Amino acid sequence: MTTVPDPMAPPALPALRVTGEERNCGATSGTLHTPDELTRWIAGHCAATGHQDYEQTVRAILRAEPGAWQ
Ligand SMILES: [Zn+2]
Repeated sequence: MTTVPDPMAPPALPALRVTGEERNCGATSGTLHTPDELTRWIAGHCAATGHQDYEQTVRAILRAEPGAWQ
């Protein structure tokens, strides 16, 4: 068995959360669809809170392919 990107799924979607010294800030962006949205979210959060460290996580959707791997 192997896994392949699901061709029906949208492309990998990044989300952001705050890291570093402000680890307990708890803010997360939710799913962002474009690099512009990502940049805007950081700019807005930084302007509001001064927090500067972020971690990007990428959600990818995979589909199992039974029998493709012996
Ligand atoms: Zn923050």
